[in-house]
Amino acid sequence: MGTKGEQDFEAVVEFNTGSIKPPLWIARAGSACDKVGNMGKSFDIGLERLTGMGVGEDGQPQEGGVKPPLQDASGDLKIGPYLNAIETKSAQPGMAVPPGSTFYLETFGCQMNDHDSEKVAGVLLARGYRQVNGPEAAKVILYNTCSIREKAAQKVFSRLGELRPADEQHGKSFNTEDTEEEHRVHRDGRALEKNHPSQRKIVNAAGGKIIGVLGCVAQQEGEEIFERAPWVSLVCGSASYRKLPQLIAELEAGNRRVTGLDTDTDETFETEITRRDNPWRAYLTIIEGCDKACSYCVVPFTRGPERSRASASILEEIRQLAEAGYSEVQLLGQTVNSYADPSARKMRFSELLAAVAEVRGIRRVRFTTSHPRDFGKDIVEAIEAHPTICDHVHLPVQSGSTAVLRAMARTYSREEYLEKIALLKAARRPISITTDMIVGFPGETEKDFEETLSLLDEVQYDSVFAFKYSPRPNTPSLKMPDAIAEEEKGRRLAILMDRQREIQRVMNERLVGETFEVLVDGKSRRENQWSGHTSSNRVMNFTSPEQELLGDYVQVKVVSAMPNSLVGEMVGRTR
Ligand code: SAM
Ligand code: SF4
Repeated sequence: MGTKGEQDFEAVVEFNTGSIKPPLWIARAGSACDKVGNMGKSFDIGLERLTGMGVGEDGQPQEGGVKPPLQDASGDLKIGPYLNAIETKSAQPGMAVPPGSTFYLETFGCQMNDHDSEKVAGVLLARGYRQVNGPEAAKVILYNTCSIREKAAQKVFSRLGELRPADEQHGKSFNTEDTEEEHRVHRDGRALEKNHPSQRKIVNAAGGKIIGVLGCVAQQEGEEIFERAPWVSLVCGSASYRKLPQLIAELEAGNRRVTGLDTDTDETFETEITRRDNPWRAYLTIIEGCDKACSYCVVPFTRGPERSRASASILEEIRQLAEAGYSEVQLLGQTVNSYADPSARKMRFSELLAAVAEVRGIRRVRFTTSHPRDFGKDIVEAIEAHPTICDHVHLPVQSGSTAVLRAMARTYSREEYLEKIALLKAARRPISITTDMIVGFPGETEKDFEETLSLLDEVQYDSVFAFKYSPRPNTPSLKMPDAIAEEEKGRRLAILMDRQREIQRVMNERLVGETFEVLVDGKSRRENQWSGHTSSNRVMNFTSPEQELLGDYVQVKVVSAMPNSLVGEMVGRTR
């Protein structure tokens, strides 16, 4: 995976990571996990999924996806129909910033970060800013960061280093050229396009610019960031994004430094304008933060406590999205199925799913990530009752060993997890199941690891995102004895991936001859080659002589299969 050329179908899969793949789509960078999955890289779950999966040049999983903004042929940023529909609002007179004010926003990490960035962009657009695709041209430079694993967090400081003003260089004038190669490899394990912004010089970039760090690293490091990079003027964690418009206004008014670091909030981050990047799939955060306390995880520290958005507000936005032309929505949350409607309606998550599925114009409803503890029969029943709810559930298990699960504080045993899997397998239509695994957790014995491998055999996942355990600040597991050596973690990861790849190869081969509905979201440079996703989120690369298919729902018959994707030919359209 990861570094192949575009000559074969696997490579097409690699490039069709996310969701959108118009001809001028800029490839997203590598991510934090290694994924063995036919669900494609557009898989939208917890941290780092969806961001472009990959293995680096060194064969190691890459940390923290980086998403350069999408742009079209003119160099303007690409936007979805929803923004087009509401963009007029941002163009209204009376906005606070001087004409020509611009911002650059780069996102690291997970799907929730991606979507937060869409909302942050909306906040800035509403103030009259224009988004540009490189830091040089920007008045405001923002990095939305990820700290789920160590490497992801390090990347942000490397990026901030690129912006170090000349007078902070101890006499050395800053020039990215000397580190350019390294960054190219770090970003996604393959060379970036020649004209990518990262390849241009950023000399004395901080001069006169507002530089901000958002997201998990901001929350984790707080004002320390000002110490390490004094040219930064905004530090704001995701739990304080409600304050962003005010913080930005303070900077515009001349304040030198501002912070938003509270986590004791019961508010969610909703904005009037969201700059949606994907023209077909719209993301909606329905629950923010996390109240679980997995012993390895920084999320409860960095994203604050769980808080859910009122069901009426969610449904209203989905109606607007459908009217604006979106046919697929994805409900997001670190533990999306722990949703607790704060309004008097008190909708359960499964009831919300059903209500979303009934919104006129919505043809696909996805949700991620589900926590096994809160996953019940009612969710399976909602899927069965509503064909618009996609036949795919991502249910992270983390380990197949009850002893390790206990040490991780996951709140379920292997057997209890398997009971949830049994609910899914008993459903009236086949439901794809995918998961996350961590290998090399402190104290994980060879026997524990064998149990993880046997869980793969037992469940037969459609895709697995596997991570080497990464010790994180403030987490209980940091102090646990019996750390596993990096080399051993790598060995276990490789074994797990090999085992899973073989499972997927066999499972996908069974699909040859079947026909699936595909939402077309990619066009290859090669003639007549398209790609898209099935309801089960499998990547389908297919041939069709049609001239324009992007955004259409078509019927594709599978002609061959690979571990990570299906290959087919279009046999018709879906009305
Ligand atoms: N909330 C979801 C859940 O509980 O399953 C997952 C969200 S989490 C932010 C995304 C994934 O990152 C986790 O499922 C886990 O596999 C992985 N992860 C989290 N912390 C990690 C760590 N310290 N080291 C390695 N992987 C980690
Ligand atoms: Fe992290 Fe656990 Fe919360 Fe998932 S449920 S975000 S792994 S603490």
